[in-house]
Amino acid sequence: MQDITENLIKNYTVYHKIFYVFMVLLTVLSRVMKFTDNTPVCVTFATVVFVFALLDSVFYHMGVFKNMKFLTTFRLIEITTYSIFVSFVPYEGVLLVGMFMILFLLALEFIILGSHYDKGTILVRKMMLLIPMFINLCLSLQFRRETFWFCYVLVLAIFVVTLLFVTELLEYSNDAHEAYYTQLVLERNDIQDKNAKLEEYQEKVKNVNERVNYQKIELARVVNDLEQANREIESQTEIMRYMASSFDINKNINVIVDAIMDVKNPKLCAVYMDGAVNSDNRGICIIKTDYASMERRLRKDFEKIYSDFAESRKTTELLVGDELKELRFIGETNIKSLVKLAMINDNKQYGMMLIASNEENFFDKGISYYETCLVEYNVSVKSTKLYLQTQDMARKDGLTQIYNRVYFGQLFAAAAEEATKKQQPLSVALFDIDKFKNINDTYGHLAGDKVIKMVASIDDKFARAHGGFACRYGGEEFLLVLPGYDETQALPILEEMHKEIQTTIVQYDDKEIPVNVCIGLSAYPTICRDTNILVNRADKSMYYGKKHGRGRLVVDNPAVDDMQS
Ligand code: GH3
Ligand code: MG
Ligand code: MG
Repeated sequence: MQDITENLIKNYTVYHKIFYVFMVLLTVLSRVMKFTDNTPVCVTFATVVFVFALLDSVFYHMGVFKNMKFLTTFRLIEITTYSIFVSFVPYEGVLLVGMFMILFLLALEFIILGSHYDKGTILVRKMMLLIPMFINLCLSLQFRRETFWFCYVLVLAIFVVTLLFVTELLEYSNDAHEAYYTQLVLERNDIQDKNAKLEEYQEKVKNVNERVNYQKIELARVVNDLEQANREIESQTEIMRYMASSFDINKNINVIVDAIMDVKNPKLCAVYMDGAVNSDNRGICIIKTDYASMERRLRKDFEKIYSDFAESRKTTELLVGDELKELRFIGETNIKSLVKLAMINDNKQYGMMLIASNEENFFDKGISYYETCLVEYNVSVKSTKLYLQTQDMARKDGLTQIYNRVYFGQLFAAAAEEATKKQQPLSVALFDIDKFKNINDTYGHLAGDKVIKMVASIDDKFARAHGGFACRYGGEEFLLVLPGYDETQALPILEEMHKEIQTTIVQYDDKEIPVNVCIGLSAYPTICRDTNILVNRADKSMYYGKKHGRGRLVVDNPAVDDMQS
């Protein structure tokens, strides 16, 4: 649309130049042909036309005609000025017709250009143009009869010119429509291009979005893995901390099984250990699962499963899908994968761990967590063993391996406290090997040591048999404490022990060494009411026995005191 208007302006600027020339020419002719003697009017008109021509050219080149309002206003002023001047120049004949044709053409141009405005503006402009033209026409013709035929010619000319211009206008209009249509097509193509680009861009954005979404999922997975790894590390740190502070191997393995259930969430975590690591040589069996029936079956089969696995000498074994059929305990459960892990210490297998899941790929990410747990447990087993050994060394006498005097103090204090609290009897027997110096002197110290060991082992045997504890109190002095026994209950036990010591012949260098002891017995609360002096009372009774012929068993009685005094 813009191009069409620009073309119109351009064309009409060209027409104008022609019109200017014609107008000046007609005015000059009018003067030359003596239609008028008024030279100043003719010169002024020619000058005015020239000035307008000049302004027209300048404005066109300045581009101000692109402002349609300015252009039409300029044309209006121009045409009105010409119209007024034409009234003063008495054109005759062809000149008059020529002049009117020019004016008409100018007017038409004004209307065409004006049509680019709104309808109201166009009407006002038409009126403004037609009024001076009409006045001008009347003045020029001056109602002269001899010029009447000019009116005919004039009307005819106007009609022809109108036709010509209307045709041109229609053409322009068609061109305009065509151009407008072409413009629309171009715009549509442009929009289609833009749409295609937009679609392409959208596709790209979609792809990027998909990639971003995929990356988001990947990221979430990685974050999840990291969180899991973190949980595992935290759990292992916890386990390590616990193992470092606990020497209870039973509790330790329970902590590990609980941690595995918590962190890995398998359907089964079970441990079977033979008695090798347990201080009381008892096996350990832990089974954690929600399937009660599976637990029952596994408890029955576990020992066999362990011995078979130990025989296979495998450290790990993964069973998936059909491979699980060989395990009876799986039963009706939905277990799809299972791993067996050997528990080995110092190259000796002492147990196994079983972990099972309902997911077939449960162990795809590896079994290092479980292995690390077992390594930590192994460390705890080793350190527990060392700890217990050290503790044993501190508590026990090196020669006899029964408790020493220091640990006896702790044991006795606890036993005395319980007896006092529960008002239960507590018997204490103290015995000393008779004439031990002679044994040393006669058979040597090593033989003496053998005798000490024999007496200690009998002491220990009787203590274990009756829930008491034995102790080497000094060089060849021993204690037997029997909680829950009063003197009447303790006496037959001690008699039996005494007999066993007397009858046990110690062999040394093909020599038989007879051994006897003197035993003093006291009991709380029947004889002695104060546990603090119980050992002392037993000692006094033993001493009493020594004084009265040795090899005797003396029960605490007042005579013991009499002897002292
Ligand atoms: P009594 O019947 O009065 O008890 O006489 P005895 O000779 O046993 O006298 P006493 O109890 O005083 O003697 C203790 C001796 O035991 C002294 C010491 O040399 C000896 N002895 C102490 N500890 C050991 C040991 O570990 N090994 C050996 N071989 N002898 C020891
Ligand atoms: Mg002694
Ligand atoms: Mg002695």
